[in-house]
Amino acid sequence: MILDDATAFNGLKKGTIANKGIINNRMTNFLFKKLEESGIETHLIEEINDRDTIVKKVEIVPLEVIIRNIAAGSFSKKYGVEEGKELKCTVLEFSYKNDELGDPLLNLAHAYALELVTPEEAAHISKMAYHINDVLKKFFIEKNLILVDFKIEFGRYDGRIILADEISPDTCRLWDKDTKEKLDKDRFRRDMGNVEDAYIEVAKRIGLV
Ligand code: 5GP
Repeated sequence: MILDDATAFNGLKKGTIANKGIINNRMTNFLFKKLEESGIETHLIEEINDRDTIVKKVEIVPLEVIIRNIAAGSFSKKYGVEEGKELKCTVLEFSYKNDELGDPLLNLAHAYALELVTPEEAAHISKMAYHINDVLKKFFIEKNLILVDFKIEFGRYDGRIILADEISPDTCRLWDKDTKEKLDKDRFRRDMGNVEDAYIEVAKRIGLV
């Protein structure tokens, strides 16, 4: 069951975002179906109600796979780049999915050394991540939303790597194309207010409410 609990900064900030569980469940399933249509296998089996979905039981690869189209968040902070700057090329980065360590950024040599993923799996994950970005960027811009960056996770299933976890305003930065207004979890992380309204606005634009 997907609830309305929200956390940020590795659990240091806690709260709730009304109806976010419903929006995230429905939006993830909607986008996963769209990705399936373009050849990306996902964990989705069946949405059974607003907050519950039956999924394939995967073994999660302990990597957070991040794609960046525009500078924001930790990238802007770490490299001293203004938020909103178009990046010369799409950035694919990985962090070690480990709450105790604060999900540290790592490169693939680190990931192989730590036996988090094999080179074959990483090649597959990287290819899928760029493909997912192409599909989502195109989809969101038609809804007047810029896909700034996002985090995805993959799982091992029956000898294959498939897309798992979620894709929602919790895991993507989505900005209004014209005003650059933030319509994602940064509103919660940064105490900007109107968090619920932002999630509903995204859901409306993609036709879920
Ligand atoms: P950043 O590294 O700039 O904080 O995040 C990059 C992108 O990945 C953002 O879209 C952010 O929402 C997503 N992201 C990174 N780590 C996490 C995480 O642990 N949880 C969630 N929900 N999103 C994450």
